[in-house]
Formats: sequence, structure tokens, C-alpha cells
Amino acid sequence: MVCARCGGQAFYTRRYSGEVLCGTCFQSSIVEKTRRTISRYGMLRHGEKVGVAVSGGKDSLSLLHVLNTLAQSKQYRLVVLTVDEGVQGYREESIEHSAALTKELGLELVSVSYKELYGFDLDQALAWKDQREISSCSMCGVFRRRAIDEAAARAGVEVIATAHNLDDCVQTFMMNLLHGDVDRLGWALPQAEEGDQLLRRVKPFMEIYEEEIALYAHLSGLPFQSVSCPYMHEGLRGEMRDFLNELEANHPGMKNTLLRSSLSVSSSLSQQAPKKRSTCSLCGAMSSSPVCGVCRMRQLVEQHTKYAPE
Ligand code: SF4
Ligand code: ZN
Repeated sequence: MVCARCGGQAFYTRRYSGEVLCGTCFQSSIVEKTRRTISRYGMLRHGEKVGVAVSGGKDSLSLLHVLNTLAQSKQYRLVVLTVDEGVQGYREESIEHSAALTKELGLELVSVSYKELYGFDLDQALAWKDQREISSCSMCGVFRRRAIDEAAARAGVEVIATAHNLDDCVQTFMMNLLHGDVDRLGWALPQAEEGDQLLRRVKPFMEIYEEEIALYAHLSGLPFQSVSCPYMHEGLRGEMRDFLNELEANHPGMKNTLLRSSLSVSSSLSQQAPKKRSTCSLCGAMSSSPVCGVCRMRQLVEQHTKYAPE
């Protein structure tokens, strides 16, 4: 097989498009696809100061790598934002990977931790697992979004780029559909304001399959994390991932079709119901309800553990 772009030795076939590529042309195609997504949805502006949320996993390290390539022509000023959730035996390695790539690229790093912001780390906050109805990732996600906002504020960035890929986006859409969560269905738009956040958030990888990002990371020599978060497999998301992977295997391109559907649904919903905004009565953060999600979660943790927020 020869590469459709350069005629070299091909090694990868995109099942959804039939395109056959060599390693170098595959890597360029990911950079080019990301550039097109950013431009199609007006995600980033020339010269803008962009906070890249980096967890140290393959997706976020790849995003940093790709944006750093694009930054040269678009003059984005990148700052790496990291959050230490406090998961023993897991976070240490990913923090090292994030710091190493940040240093290699000569970028600034701004780091915050749950312990510093909330008074407890994630291991402590999740200690009452047996009595909970909410999944670990749902809880962690609420704290994590606020923590990224805090890091972004300290870094003085204008926009936050996260590494959500096409698989993440369609899984989230399907989960929100299953739960009948109409508000969140409206958050799928590339420029949507999510929940209580103020800063613009963009997902430059939202049109790229997770498996292609993993391949990009491998070809670019980015480090792979050897351990997964111990809380990752709880809840429906894992089952939804398997279901969508099987659907894609039987019908190549189906995840792409689902992404388009999610954007149409989101667009209609956001036109119907403009979001009302006020401030949280406890912490003063922007919130669509009288008490924001972070304060509600902190109260739950406080009620169920000895790690009361200070
Ligand atoms: Fe938090 Fe879930 Fe990510 Fe673990 S996998 S760090 S619990 S969001
Ligand atoms: Zn609050």
C-alpha cells in the first residue's frame, strides 16, 4: 500500500474515509484537521493567550504538541494548566509527563491542586463511595472544571483549550440523552458556555477520533501513562464507549454522524432557551442556580467525610 499523499510506504487506513497514509502524512493530517476545526468554529484568535488544560494523558499531551505546532503560524501564546486532583499512585506520573513536555516546548506552567483549593484531595473526597449515587468522575469533573478556571485566572489566559476528542463528545451526548439532561445537551456546541464557567472553552480535537489521537501520540514519541485513574471505570461511560466502538466497527463513520447530530440538537436547544446567570450565594462564582455545583459537592463531601472544607 502506498500513501495517498506522498506515495511513501503506507501503514494506516482511515476506515471512515478510505484514506491510506504513511506515518508522517498521518501526523500532518491530525495537525491540519485540528487547524480546520479551530478555524471552522472560530475557536481561537490570532495572537490569543491560550490556556491548554493538560492532564498528562495521551490526549492532552497531543493537544499541547499540535497547538504548539500551530502556534508558530497563528502566534498563539500557550500556557499549560494542570490540576493535581490528589489520586495516590496515579497523578504523580502524569504530572511528570506534563511538566517534561512543557519544559521541552519552553512554555509556562500554572498548576493548582484540589487540596489547595478545596481543603481535601480526591482520594479523601471519594472516601464515602459506598453511600453515593453520583459517579466518581461526575464529582471530580465539577471540581476539576473550577480548578482549571482558577489556574486559567492565575495565568491570565483569554480562552481554555481542552483535549476532549470526538469519542468523548459523542459519549457525553449519549449519556445526557439517556439521563434526559436537556441543559447539558445544549452544551455540546463548540463555543457553548458550559455550566458555571465564565471563560470561553474550546475543544480543538472534537472532530478527531480517540484512536487517531493515540496513534498521533505514539508516532510523535509522546509518553504514555502506565496507570489509569483508579476511579475511571465506574458508571455508564465505559459501557457507552464499548457500545459506540462496536457501532463504529460495524458502520464506519457512525461516530462522526453522531457528532453532527449532537451539534444540531445542541444548536436548536440553545436557541430555544437562553441561559439565565446569577451568582452562587456561597462562593460568589457565576452560577445558573442559587448554589453552584462546586459548593453543592463540597457540602456533600463535608457531610460524609471528616475532610470538611476550610
Ligand atoms: Fe477524575 Fe474521573 Fe479523571 Fe479520575 S478519571 S481524574 S475521577 S475525571
Ligand atoms: Zn459556589
